[in-house]
Amino acid sequence: MFLMKSLTFNDVKSLLQSPKNIVVVCHVNPDGDAIGSSLGLYHYLIQKGHVANVIVPNDYPNFLKWIPGTSSVIQFEKNTKKAQKKLDVADLVFTLDFNALQRSGPMQKVLTENTALKIMIDHHQQPDNYAAYTYSDVNMCSTAEMVYNFIDQLGDIDLINKAIGSALYTGIMTDTASFRFPKTTSTTHRIVAHLIEIGVEHSEIHSKVYDANRYERIKLLGTALNNLNVIAPSHTAYITLSQKELDKIGQQKGDTEGLVNYGLSIKGVKLAAIFIENKEEGIIKISLRSKGDFDVNLLAREHFSGGGHKNAAGGKSMLSLEKTVEEFKKLVKTLASKLK
Ligand code: 5GP
Ligand code: MN
Repeated sequence: MFLMKSLTFNDVKSLLQSPKNIVVVCHVNPDGDAIGSSLGLYHYLIQKGHVANVIVPNDYPNFLKWIPGTSSVIQFEKNTKKAQKKLDVADLVFTLDFNALQRSGPMQKVLTENTALKIMIDHHQQPDNYAAYTYSDVNMCSTAEMVYNFIDQLGDIDLINKAIGSALYTGIMTDTASFRFPKTTSTTHRIVAHLIEIGVEHSEIHSKVYDANRYERIKLLGTALNNLNVIAPSHTAYITLSQKELDKIGQQKGDTEGLVNYGLSIKGVKLAAIFIENKEEGIIKISLRSKGDFDVNLLAREHFSGGGHKNAAGGKSMLSLEKTVEEFKKLVKTLASKLK
């Protein structure tokens, strides 16, 4: 481990005053905010005259592959050598939309060993202390909104163009579930208003992200809804998807995203979960969502080797799908009074 250097915002600002080699990375299984914030920052850095590259740990959903800059994104898992070369010569590494190097999945080792100055921009709870400069704010609706603030703080709000704006809009839109989560503030709306003013095509972006379903994905939704269960005394809903069910429809990246929210949409439900079997990784991937004060970040940390936010978190289980659900049922029984 190299010695941690602590930078002030002004240090970061002066570092960015002259051309640098910069890598931007986001978390494994990137979502709209991970990709949107990374590509938004990327377009800004390029405009400022830096050499910038976005490296994602692994592949991400097709419905995000229209965002300007997509063709330059390097997938670490597929293109390890190329990614490694970029990381080797980097002066700065921005880590976006995650709070611990472990969240970079296959990149954890290289990022831990990499000696470039790291700058974290993230809104997840309990950030680790690995970065030379940490911009962490758990009250932010998205990392994309933070990238907007970051550029603004650097005095460059006028450099925010349509490419940056479209990427950031995608991040804000997806992480707020189209502006409906509680962390969507008047400031969020002001930022989005600005992005629309500079030409961001909000309606078109919404369509590109949400109306790009394959027939198979909608069939998978049917299976998921069929498997939806409610545990009424605990105000809990859960969905299971076995590997067999996923194979039957020929699952693609992103197909299961958002399914967990159907459980939460049931009147009275405070906690929703989805359990997705992944035979290849030998795990059950778990997504957790809550309404109100119930903290699923805590639940994920304590019981499912995961984390996230108070109302949206994830984790995993090494048990079988059946055993995992059994344990979950026992767990929520003990939590019934907290889920009232
Ligand atoms: P999702 O359920 O959509 O995969 O993730 C919801 C939130 O929890 C996201 O903010 C994501 O970063 C976080 N999250 C999901 N899975 C994990 C995990 O395995 N570990 C940690 N620490 N966070 C996770
Ligand atoms: Mn995010």
